[in-house]
Amino acid sequence: MSRPYNFSAGPAMLPEPVLQRAREEMLDWHGSGMCVAEMSHRGKEFLSIAGQAEADLRELLAVPDNYKVLFLQGGASLQFAMTPMNLLRGASPAERAADYINTGSWSKKAIAEAKRFAAVNIAASTEQDGTFTRAPAQDELSLSADAAYLHYTPNETIQGVEFPYVPQTDKPLVADMSSTILSRPIDVSKFGIIYAGAQKNIGPAGLTLVIVREDLIGQPITGTPAMLDYKTHADNDSMYNTPPTYAWYLAGLVFQWLKDLGGLKGMAEINQRKASKLYAAIDGSAFYANPVQPDCRSWMNVPFTLADASLDADFLAGAQDAGLLTLKGHRSVGGMRASIYNAMPEAGVDALIQFMAEFERTRG
Ligand SMILES: *Cc1c(COP(=O)(O)O)cnc(C)c1O
Repeated sequence: MSRPYNFSAGPAMLPEPVLQRAREEMLDWHGSGMCVAEMSHRGKEFLSIAGQAEADLRELLAVPDNYKVLFLQGGASLQFAMTPMNLLRGASPAERAADYINTGSWSKKAIAEAKRFAAVNIAASTEQDGTFTRAPAQDELSLSADAAYLHYTPNETIQGVEFPYVPQTDKPLVADMSSTILSRPIDVSKFGIIYAGAQKNIGPAGLTLVIVREDLIGQPITGTPAMLDYKTHADNDSMYNTPPTYAWYLAGLVFQWLKDLGGLKGMAEINQRKASKLYAAIDGSAFYANPVQPDCRSWMNVPFTLADASLDADFLAGAQDAGLLTLKGHRSVGGMRASIYNAMPEAGVDALIQFMAEFERTRG
């Protein structure tokens, strides 16, 4: 069976070998007679799946020993609240402050949520006329002395804007890595908290990964519910309540797939190559355009517009016929967006580039 290429921003494509493996194991996981979705999260079978997934993720990202890896629910959107609730010190909202960098739609959502708990200092914003086309440079950041942490969005999934560097601060650095985690090696020790909804580059929706430095756990603001306190989950190996077991299992298969491919260094080379050739095709044409400053262009989410927006619907219909799915841009930006996460084969990007050239030749 030949499957089309799905450019969805999330939930996104999963690696085909992972889906095949899940299918093989669907009715009977390793002779257990159970589907993973039917297992007790406290049984030895699932505990081995969960432990292996964590070990593989730690190996892939070289997570230092003084970090906890949590497998939670609620999406990155819940982390917009959990990070301030767990990191802000100070008894009253008036005494609580945090720095945020605003580089796009997801930054804005994180900022709006943080404002429920703290005085938010916008350390930098690259919004111009309602759009975002770059990340700020380090020397543009104005960090406040009383901030408990600095939050940023390394990759803005909607605008396709990516930080070409890791911001420096003497406070804990919090990163929403939903759409960039596992796309390349990172130095986890630079971060206080890394979080990511799974449905872009990790696995299916319903799982949220949080990597948190141990010293940041255990002093939530007064009134924080148990489920929103990192300590609850850290103390219970993410099994305080029923975790998203099947999503955790599929994420584990994705981690194994990445390890089989040689880990994140190899993945990074492939991702960079995929993105470069797509941007080169866009830049090499007068018909397609991407507004993002070249050094801030995302490897994972590539928005582009057609010179004549009245052809958008035809482009999407033709792409669909060619087996290229979900290329419609986010409603707030318009145009097209090709999300090319780890699971998108290079051949899928080649097919898109070929379709774009053909569309331009016949319709442009
Ligand atoms: C998708 C996305 C989110 C939202 O994730 P949910 O899991 O749906 O809450 C937040 N931040 C970024 C950068 C994203 O790409």
